[in-house]
Amino acid sequence: MARSKQKEKQIIDRIKEGRSRSETTDELAQLILSGNRSALARAITLIESTQEADLSKADALMRILLPHSGNSFRVGISGVPGAGKSTFIESFGLSMIQAGKKVAVLAVDPSSETGKGSILGDKTRMNELASNSNAFIRPSPSSGALGGVARKTREAIFLCESAGYDLILIETVGVGQSETAVHSMVDFFVLIALAGAGDELQGIKRGIMEMADLVVMNKADGDNLPRAKAARMDVQRALHFFPELPSGWIPEVTLASSLERTGLDAIADSMNRYQHHCKTNGYFDLHRKEQSRWWLKETIQHALVDLFFAQENIQTELAQREEQIIAQQQSVSEAARYLIDLFKGTGINPK
Ligand code: GDP
Repeated sequence: MARSKQKEKQIIDRIKEGRSRSETTDELAQLILSGNRSALARAITLIESTQEADLSKADALMRILLPHSGNSFRVGISGVPGAGKSTFIESFGLSMIQAGKKVAVLAVDPSSETGKGSILGDKTRMNELASNSNAFIRPSPSSGALGGVARKTREAIFLCESAGYDLILIETVGVGQSETAVHSMVDFFVLIALAGAGDELQGIKRGIMEMADLVVMNKADGDNLPRAKAARMDVQRALHFFPELPSGWIPEVTLASSLERTGLDAIADSMNRYQHHCKTNGYFDLHRKEQSRWWLKETIQHALVDLFFAQENIQTELAQREEQIIAQQQSVSEAARYLIDLFKGTGINPK
């Protein structure tokens, strides 16, 4: 550790001496490996960049750091706005730091541009956690489509891991498709739920509940405690009717108060038992491998679609085919086949 601190200082000194010269990719990687938080933040900015010049730098950085990644527990945290996600992350994050962990918090929030239902935009959130030297908090990349945002977040996970963070919490708004994207990059998925709103399952989409490894009944405090206890039973009963998880893990429901910081140990315990269960039955590694394969295909699909629609001849032909389809002169299947042949460079005999 002392040696890595020394190395870190040497690199920083060298960069300062050069002043105008920016750090090399190798220097940036070394700083990250020594746990330097601002280097980590710069690296995430680099991988989020869409500038052509940054892409190859980002690739080079990832090549250096990937062999140092993987050594963390990745946890997705979902819940409707107001459920208490950020309060929970702060309380739980701090308790895990006390237990010796280094905690990174990332977010997938494609809506953050509009501010609607957005998370982590408000700088006053998680103050105590943010100022802890064993925590790293990064807001969601704000640019555009969910797939792109999620892909960047997934790469940010690897960067955080190579900086020594061994618990990665990925927050997402519990309102849409972002759960599926987050689910495909984490080891464990937590749903922060609320009781006392009348209908216990209100606001919890069935699909999201089905993904959960753990449902945390938050705000189990004060007058709300009896309601939270009743809701816990209801959710437990509801979970019985869901299909078995591929991990073979039986989802759990716990009570917690993020505000009073109670029930957090039981959550850590559930996570530990889950890891033991999935490492013993081989699911942990298998799942990560499946996720990598899924992301490769997903990324190729996106890139191909972008390439397709950006092509000039496709744009021209597409407009014409659309007219023909609307005029009931051609089927969608035939038009699509024709356009794809054209894209492949084989569409020589247009009908
Ligand atoms: P998010 O939108 O899901 O991130 O929710 P927040 O963490 O911002 O919390 C929404 C509100 O619920 C805030 O006013 C919190 O103080 C409150 N809150 C969060 N957790 C608890 C809890 O465990 N108990 C109580 N009573 N209030 C809570």
